[in-house]
Amino acid sequence: MANGTPILPASTNPNDFVIATIGSHSALQILKGAKDEGFKTLAICKKSTERVYDSRGYGVADEILTVDKFEDWNEALEEELIKRNAIIIPHGSFIAYMGHDRVKAMKAMYYGTKEILEWESDRNKERVWMEKSGLLLPKIYDDPEKIEKPVIVKFHGAGGGFGYFVAKTPEQFWEVKNKKHPNNSDYAIQEYIVGVPLYAHYFQSPITGELEILSFDKRYESNADSIGRIKAEDQLAANIHTSYTIVGNIPIVVRESLLPKFLEMGESVVKVSKEITANGKGLFGPFCLECIVTRKLEIYCFEISARIVAGTNPFIEGSPYTALKYDKPMSTGRRIALDIQQAIGAGQLEDILG
Ligand code: AMP
Ligand code: AMP
Repeated sequence: MANGTPILPASTNPNDFVIATIGSHSALQILKGAKDEGFKTLAICKKSTERVYDSRGYGVADEILTVDKFEDWNEALEEELIKRNAIIIPHGSFIAYMGHDRVKAMKAMYYGTKEILEWESDRNKERVWMEKSGLLLPKIYDDPEKIEKPVIVKFHGAGGGFGYFVAKTPEQFWEVKNKKHPNNSDYAIQEYIVGVPLYAHYFQSPITGELEILSFDKRYESNADSIGRIKAEDQLAANIHTSYTIVGNIPIVVRESLLPKFLEMGESVVKVSKEITANGKGLFGPFCLECIVTRKLEIYCFEISARIVAGTNPFIEGSPYTALKYDKPMSTGRRIALDIQQAIGAGQLEDILG
């Protein structure tokens, strides 16, 4: 599908623009942040979810467009957005529901580089990007028969960790695979890294040229985060398998001496992103490096999320890190709006649209 070509309005007043996103994931902070920076806001909602975003709920959306399913996104809806000078902010659910082809073909203004989505969503390309960036990576197994230590098995497109499992031998792998996923052979087998999960939330602004770390979180996953409440022998007796379904997010402040390494990792990922994208715009705006930190303080990165992650949601009032830098509460959602506001003011809107 051809890339959509946004039509750019000439105004330099934020109030002439609408910040729009799909009502889920991190829409509350995106829309709240946009209002704080002087924009009008719009949420595209499924029926019965509107009340979270409109004046009956948290009041972050000035306007709601209701759809039966997000997959129903069509030209008429996009026309409505274009008419309002809407800038769409993609988030995890947005990409999951829309699919990449539709995102690429979109004509409405879109914050971020569409091209980088290909690198993020294709496992092999993402691996190349991470390797070129010099990140420490878990080993990948191309053949289940080669499993010789604990691995985590991830099914492609698995929503929020659902269906992942851990195995330590080929036999264990096939037992769970055949029982739980008999018809799905689109999976990746990764070395299981023993350590603590840590998700680093970055922001790279094309306007200031700066890379910032805005916050960190860890995930609250069912049942991985409650399995320790059961004795090991009871787990075995009840035949409980670990699963990683995301339920929520917990804020983290990291040991201060880890910050230089995290900054270096983020810078390197951004630098390489410019080399691998044809237009050289690379990765900008919010992104996340999903990591596991071992007891030797090695930072393994197992995924790059090239957009706002929901782990930034605890920081609507800002994080300890943004408090150091800004004299107002700065969420990731608001940081996006600030970037757009500065781009509009400087007549550089094109630089932040994909
Ligand atoms: P939802 O709109 O909550 O059904 O989420 C749609 C997709 O967005 C999920 O399948 C996840 O991949 C992702 N997602 C939603 N919430 C979170 C979260 N708190 N952390 C990580 N991913 C999330
Ligand atoms: P993901 O959906 O890829 O973000 O992963 C979901 C969860 O699986 C993470 O929060 C971790 O708890 C766990 N996980 C993913 N990859 C690994 C790995 N290589 N080693 C250990 N745990 C992992």
